[in-house]
Amino acid sequence: MTDERPARTLVVGAGQAGISLVTALRELGDTAPVVLVGDEPEPPYERPPLSKSYLRGEHDRASLVFHDEGWFADRGVELVTGDAVVGIERDIASGRATTTSGRTLEFDRLALTTGAANRTLPVAEEHHESEGGSASPGATPGLHSIRTLADADRLAPELRRAREVVVVGGGFIGLEIAAGARLLGADVTVVEVAPRLLDRAVSPELAEAVRLAHERRGTRVLLQTGAVRVVVENGRAAGIELTDGTTLPADVVVVGIGVVPRTELAAQLGLVVEPRGIVVDRSALASDGATVAAGDCAVGPNPFRRGLGGLTRLESVAHATDQARAAAAALAGHPAAYDSVPWFWSDQGDLRLQMAGLPHGADRTVLRGDVATERFSLLSYRDGLLIAVESVGSPGDYLAVKRALEKGMTIEADAAVDATVPLKRLITEAPARDPS
Ligand code: NAP
Repeated sequence: MTDERPARTLVVGAGQAGISLVTALRELGDTAPVVLVGDEPEPPYERPPLSKSYLRGEHDRASLVFHDEGWFADRGVELVTGDAVVGIERDIASGRATTTSGRTLEFDRLALTTGAANRTLPVAEEHHESEGGSASPGATPGLHSIRTLADADRLAPELRRAREVVVVGGGFIGLEIAAGARLLGADVTVVEVAPRLLDRAVSPELAEAVRLAHERRGTRVLLQTGAVRVVVENGRAAGIELTDGTTLPADVVVVGIGVVPRTELAAQLGLVVEPRGIVVDRSALASDGATVAAGDCAVGPNPFRRGLGGLTRLESVAHATDQARAAAAALAGHPAAYDSVPWFWSDQGDLRLQMAGLPHGADRTVLRGDVATERFSLLSYRDGLLIAVESVGSPGDYLAVKRALEKGMTIEADAAVDATVPLKRLITEAPARDPS
């Protein structure tokens, strides 16, 4: 830039990645004006409780909100809520975005933290067959999906009254909601198209233990069973039609069948986009070398998939936060490789799952503890090196492995089997690795 004006930063998307990016910019000492735009009416808030404690009435709305108005004002951040950026263009130095309400926002630096939208199931209605149509969340009583606070506010009262709940999708969302519905006293069936639960996220061993744990609590789990459409009777969801032609009745249907990244604006800008997201490098920079993208909308290289190739989209709060920090550094002119250890957690009723690293490509899995008691850990190894831990009710194991991975260290597999020895005592230097 040639003038003295400070660079104006536009952050599109006020979810976890958006608020983390703004926070990181200020922590890095960047004082340039920021506009943060979110399409929901609320200021940025925590999403993880929405599918867990919030549904059971254990959180009030206000406690989910990250910051009050003063926080934004004190930091020179203009927060725009209830408005969506719909058009965007930029050249090398500056750009302009337009919103649904007709605002024009000029910017010099751009961050896309646009997140993802829930996949939907077609809806078949008694007198209004709409094969190709989609269940629009919010439109049909009894039919739900969860992404936003508004979705959770709609679901919570229905779940408390529900007798028969069908959850479509055995991912984190589906299983957290299924566990909550069981605790509230409903009959619950989970329908998952894959041969196992949590197909993309965890090892087959953990998936099987999770299935058994849900069944022990009275939830029915149907694997290799696809939902074709939602059945609606008298204007209300009444069940799910399955791939075998049968119908599962329900008074509440919750659809958690994954997400589609929101990449429309990146595409408008001519950035490289693939179906799984906006392609970014290790510094969260998109293909123009200037725009950054982070969180659920972005796909990029991940050092924890070493040797497996390909780009990864990690859909987790920790990843959104860490990648947003890298994106902020890149915007502030100090790009640095993002190499945080991935970590996740999932509270499914009283079952707490904690995971660090990525178990994909493991050639050995070590079990510590007893699956039947629901206090155990699975340690994954590749080429003799520790790559991930998945713990149930064993936070000490989880923390020890997370720390070892953060330090580039390992834990010898044969020693890890003995659950009487704390893992933190077994952490050792890892042999030098092939940097590829
Ligand atoms: P997900 O992890 O993609 O799981 C959805 C599952 O539903 C997949 O196994 C999918 O199979 C299956 N499915 C798709 N279509 C189906 C159909 N017609 N009938 C039956 N099953 C079907 O996504 P999610 O659970 O919806 O979660 C959404 C996002 O929120 C993810 O990003 C998730 O990681 C995130 N989240 C994270 C946490 C946490 O970290 N604790 C908690 C909640 C949500 P295919 O893969 O074959 O399509």
